This record gives sequence, structure tokens and C-alpha cells, in this order.
Amino acid sequence: MLGCGYRIYILNMDNSSAIVVFSGGQDSTTCLFWAMSEFDHVEAITFDYGQRHAKEIDCARAICRDLGVEHTVLEMEQLGRVAPSSLTRDNVAVDKAMPDDHTPPNSFVDGRNMVFLTFAAIVAKQKGIHNIVTGVCETDFSGYPDCRDIFIKSLNVSLDLAMDYTFVLHTPLMWLDKAQTWALADSLGRLDYVRENTLTCYNGIKGDGCGDCPACKLRKRGLDKYIASKNQTKQ
Ligand code: ZN
Repeated sequence: MLGCGYRIYILNMDNSSAIVVFSGGQDSTTCLFWAMSEFDHVEAITFDYGQRHAKEIDCARAICRDLGVEHTVLEMEQLGRVAPSSLTRDNVAVDKAMPDDHTPPNSFVDGRNMVFLTFAAIVAKQKGIHNIVTGVCETDFSGYPDCRDIFIKSLNVSLDLAMDYTFVLHTPLMWLDKAQTWALADSLGRLDYVRENTLTCYNGIKGDGCGDCPACKLRKRGLDKYIASKNQTKQ
């Protein structure tokens, strides 16, 4: 299956369960479905870090309720306070394009993935879970340094050492572009569900979104490309 990557089997490690870092967006919802196809028991964890739209958390809750997935929501307000970003400050407009100087766009929240994955790992260990799934992706590289494969691998080592426990960080989307992420959702039989129920838009509009922010544009470009390629193979 597309994007499945590899599975690591470690002797004496319970491989039946996983926890998914879940925002309620397209990528993490696709990861949730991927995890549900790979593991017997799947849970989700969402972080409330004062993101612009509390709707994102409502969306994550609604999806977990709908799918019967155990859901933990952790309060991370301090992150939004110490790391200013257009996602956490109403007075910072979201960049409509990538900055020219190769710095991350102002939607970048310093340390976010490190903090989230660390807390996900702490929760996972308490529950005896070893597998952690995250939707980070290097292909459509948005300039976020903590979405890079090398960062995830480095953090995996650090988490193991920090907690004297074996974690396996899974990144099923790492090498997929947005069109391939839609293809993965489709191969799991969940394309329409992901399209209609997830929130990716920086302006907080569910489904196809505002159409104007970078997240909506990226999402739409990928969907159009996937649908076009699917139609082509049908002909
Ligand atoms: Zn949008």
C-alpha cells in the first residue's frame, strides 16, 4: 500500500497499538486511518496550544467520536505564548506565500513537533504503547525544520534514551506529495471522509476551506492532481 513504508518488529515489544498525533486536518486524519489499518488498537492525541481556531480541536474531537477512537486532548497554551506565530496570534496575518529568504513562513511554531511528539511519547509510555504516528512530511517541504525526516529520526533516538523505552515514530506521509496523500486516503477507502470532515485551512473553514490560504491552495492542488491522474488511468 502507498506510503506504508516499513514496519519495525522488535522482540518482546507489543506492536498491536499506536497513538496518532492528531490535529483533525487532512494529513493527520489520513494517518489515523492508516494506523487503524495497521494496528489493532489506535488512540489519538491532540494539543491545544491556543491555535487561532478552536474549531480545529472541535473537528478533531468530532472525528474521534465518529470513529470511536480514544482521544486525549492536552493543554499546551504555554507553547502559543512563548512561540509567536500566525497560527497562535490573531494580530499576525498568515503569510500568503513562502518568504523569499528561505526562512520558514510565519505559521511556523518553534519547537511544536518536538514538544508534541515528546508529550505523545510520555502518554504512550504510560499506556504501554510503543508506536507513535505523525503526519509530518518532507516532500511538500513548507520550510518547517521539524518536519524533516532527519529530525524525526534524531528525536526517536532521544526519546528512547530519555525514557529508556523503545518508541517507533511512524511517518507514513514523509515522502508523499499532497496528491499521493489523497491517493493514500483513497486506497484506505476514506477520500470523501477526509475531504469533508477535516480542517486544514488556516482561516478555520472545514472541508475545502477558504481556498485562499497556503494550506488550502496546497490541499486543492494535490486533490486536483490526484483526481486528474485517477481519471486518466480510468480512460
Ligand atoms: Zn484556507
